[in-house]
Amino acid sequence: MTKHKPDTNARAGSLAPPGLEPPSGSLGFVPLLEEETAAFVDPGIKEQLQMSDKRDADIVIIGSGPAGYVGAIRAAQLGANTVIVEKNSVGGTCLNVGCIPTKVLLACVAALDTVERSADFGVNVDKFDLDIAKMMSRKETIVKRLVGGVESLLKKNNVRLVRGTARLADAHTVIVDAPDVAETIRADKIIICTGSVPAPLPVPGFEFGGDVWTSTEALAFEAVPKSMLIVGAGVIGLEAGYTFARLGAEVVVVEMMSQVLPAADTETANELAKALGKAGIRFMLNSTVTNAEDTGTGKKVTIRTQDGETTSE
Ligand SMILES: Cc1cc2nc3c(=O)[nH]c(=O)nc-3n(C[C@H](O)[C@H](O)[C@H](O)COP(=O)(O)OP(=O)(O)OC[C@H]3O[C@@H](n4cnc5c(N)ncnc54)[C@H](O)[C@@H]3O)c2cc1C
Repeated sequence: MTKHKPDTNARAGSLAPPGLEPPSGSLGFVPLLEEETAAFVDPGIKEQLQMSDKRDADIVIIGSGPAGYVGAIRAAQLGANTVIVEKNSVGGTCLNVGCIPTKVLLACVAALDTVERSADFGVNVDKFDLDIAKMMSRKETIVKRLVGGVESLLKKNNVRLVRGTARLADAHTVIVDAPDVAETIRADKIIICTGSVPAPLPVPGFEFGGDVWTSTEALAFEAVPKSMLIVGAGVIGLEAGYTFARLGAEVVVVEMMSQVLPAADTETANELAKALGKAGIRFMLNSTVTNAEDTGTGKKVTIRTQDGETTSE
């Protein structure tokens, strides 16, 4: 069995290689890889890993999002012969169509805020406009850089990256379907880190496609829509709502519960709603969407509120 020594050059506490640090604050949620914890690995686990020399790998991890790539690097650092399988881009939702791109767009909005308030600082900016194509290309550059950073961390830690779609043949066999060739990998342990996909809304007219976006389309647009209705005042809905409202869209957020961020402390959530209201977002709380119809130029959405039905276009 191939053994991989822990990389003593690895920087504890960060997954971004030197020079590839993300925009400030944006990767704070990535779990830490503390070198010291290696000392606390249960001898039983080490023994289990050593028993697996009849396999192609000790551990196969399916999916290279934050769960998969952190797990793979850690497993390799602990001595496991580790393979990670990814069907799309390394980094999963978070790096490609989640945390990172949303924060990059929020940074664009922060730059806009600074420009708009610059006169308060004695800096007069006569004229400015928004270049959405530039925002998108900046976002893509940052995502690419971080994906490359994770790919090189996998390499540096001797994790073998296999590109393709994994399926389980049995409890110890993963088959990876790639366009050119299928690979069979026998492993002692298999860890499934396949993440999630947007859940369709079981409401007529809300089928994904066209004018009905998921968060993925809301991170890759060519022009800011004139108006936007967002279903759900959770973190993702609010971040998108704030971004689009500041970029000039008329934004309505429909939330079935009685406050924004339903899982959060009410006082904090109400303060946030006030601030977002000032940024131009209109909230409809205790409300649910019940239907959407094409109008030719967009959608007309029916919303059930506590006072009865209303529509929004
Ligand atoms: C718009 C948005 C913003 C977000 N912002 C934040 C934030 O600010 N902070 C935060 O903490 N979280 C945020 N999240 C949530 C965060 O992205 C997820 O919690 C995180 O990505 C989950 O990681 P994961 O590794 O479990 O799954 P994922 O990141 O979804 O990764 C799963 C991977 O598995 C791959 N895969 C699936 N099936 C197979 C297969 N059969 N074979 C091979 N590969 C496969 C997928 O291609 C994917 O790359 C956000 C999410 C979204 C959508």
